[in-house]
Amino acid sequence: MISEYRETISSILSVDPESIVEYPASYTIIEEDQVILCKIAGEKKLLAVGDGMFVSRLEGKILSDGIKICPLSHENRLVLNQFLPHTKPSAFGRKIATFGLGDRLGIATPGHIRCFEGSSAKPILAQQSKRELDLTGRTYEQVLDDVSFAVFQEGYRGGFGADGDHLKQWNDIREALDCGYTMITLDCSEKIGKGIEAMTSSQLEQAFANLPSDYRRRVEETYLSRVFPIGLEEYHFTREELIRCVLVYKVAIEFVKEVFFDLIQKAGHAVDFELSIDETEAITTAQGHLFVAMELDHLNIEVTSLAPRFIGEFQKGIDYIGDITEFEHQLKQHAAIADHFGYKLSIHSGSDKFSVFPLIGLYTAGRLHLKTSGTNWLEAVGVIAEKNPKLYRSIHQKALEHFEQAKTFYHVSADPAKAAALNSTSDEMLTEYLTDTNSRQLLHITYGFILGDSRLRDELYRTLSQSEERYYGRLINHIGRHLQLVSLKD
Ligand SMILES: [Zn+2]
Repeated sequence: MISEYRETISSILSVDPESIVEYPASYTIIEEDQVILCKIAGEKKLLAVGDGMFVSRLEGKILSDGIKICPLSHENRLVLNQFLPHTKPSAFGRKIATFGLGDRLGIATPGHIRCFEGSSAKPILAQQSKRELDLTGRTYEQVLDDVSFAVFQEGYRGGFGADGDHLKQWNDIREALDCGYTMITLDCSEKIGKGIEAMTSSQLEQAFANLPSDYRRRVEETYLSRVFPIGLEEYHFTREELIRCVLVYKVAIEFVKEVFFDLIQKAGHAVDFELSIDETEAITTAQGHLFVAMELDHLNIEVTSLAPRFIGEFQKGIDYIGDITEFEHQLKQHAAIADHFGYKLSIHSGSDKFSVFPLIGLYTAGRLHLKTSGTNWLEAVGVIAEKNPKLYRSIHQKALEHFEQAKTFYHVSADPAKAAALNSTSDEMLTEYLTDTNSRQLLHITYGFILGDSRLRDELYRTLSQSEERYYGRLINHIGRHLQLVSLKD
C-alpha cells in the first residue's frame, strides 16, 4: 500500500522516502477505508486512506484529501478497538491454557505473538505488575495501547488477554478494570496469616475461640471427621490443622470475596480472576490449597486460576532451584485439587524454569496459566550485546552500580562478582553474559535504573528499533522453548 503514497508522505513530511517502511501484515480494509502500520523516520504511525467513518474518527495529520498520518496514541487505539475487535483483550475462562508475557519495553509484543503460531495456548500480552509500572514509568493504559498496536501490526486475530498483575489494592484493581483489563491477579500475600506455623496448640485454640461461633461451627462441621478424596490422595484435617488453615487464610478469603463480588462481577466485561497466594514465606500445602478451594466454593467465588507457593525457588530469569522430586509430588497434588474444583493451576516467575516445565506440562495437562516476565527484557539486552557493544557495556556498568539497590525489590541469589569482568571481556563475548545466571539476574532486576537513565534509554530504544526482526527472532526462540517444554506447542 505504501508505494502509492511514499512520494506524498516524504515530500509533505520532508523525510527520506527510504525511511518509510510498511508492516504488510497490518494492512486492513474497514468498509471503504484502508489502514496500515508503517514506520516513518524511525517512528511508528498509522497511514489511513479513505473518507469513511473510520478515517474520520482517527486523529492525525491530513496530508491531502483522504490521506491521514496518525500517531499511535491512546485515542487512536480506542478507535482501532472499536472497528477491529481483535485488537481488544478478551478473557479465556477456566479451560483454555494461557501464558503471561510482560512487555516491559512496550516493543516485544510482535515477537511474543509469533511464538503462539501453532500453540494451543492464548497469550496474555499485557501483563505488568504495579512494581514494573512504577519502575518503568508506564501506566495500564500505555501498556494496553502498545499491545493493541502490536496486535494490529502483526494482523493477529487469535485473541489475547490483559492482566492487572499482582494487585493488592482496591483502587489499582478498579483502575485496571476501568482500562479494560480482562484478567486480574489478586495478590493476597498481605492478608495471609503470618507466624501461624510457630503457634502452640493452646495459642491456636485461643485464636480460634475469638472467631464468631457460627463460623467456627460451620468449619468444624465441614472439615473435621471427614475424608476428601482428590486425585490419587485422600485428605483429612485434624482439629489443629484446620485451625492453622483458618488462621492462615480466613482474612485473605474475606478479601477475595469483596473483590470478586464488588469489583470483578461488576466490571461490565468478562474477567479472568486469578488468586495468587504465592508471594509468601510459607509453602502452600496441599491441605491449605484444598481449604482455600473449598471455602471459595462455599462462598460461590469462581476463580479462573490459583497460584500456590511451590516448594523450591522460582527466582527471576534462571532455572528452578530445589528438590525436583518433591516439587513433582506437590505439583501433582496442587494440579489435582485445581482440576477437581475446575480452575487452572497458575505458575508464577515461570521464565526459564526449563528443568520443571515437562512436569508442569504433564500434571496440568494443558489446564494452566504460566506467567513469565522480564525475559523479554533480557532478550532485548541480548540484542544490544550483539548489535551495540558500547551501549551494552554502559548498561552492564549501570546494572553493577545499582544491583544492591535493586535487590530490595527482587529476591535473587546472584553474585555479579562471579561473572567475568567487563573490561576483560571482548565485544564478541558480551552475549555470554546472557547465558550466565549471575549476570542474567543482575541485568534482570536493574531495568528500572537502566531505563531511568534517559541517555541509555534512548539509545536502547534506537538500537532495538533498528534490529526489530532480530529481537523478535530471539523472543521466538526463547519463549517458543517454554511453550514446547510445557507441551503447549509441538
Ligand atoms: Zn506471583
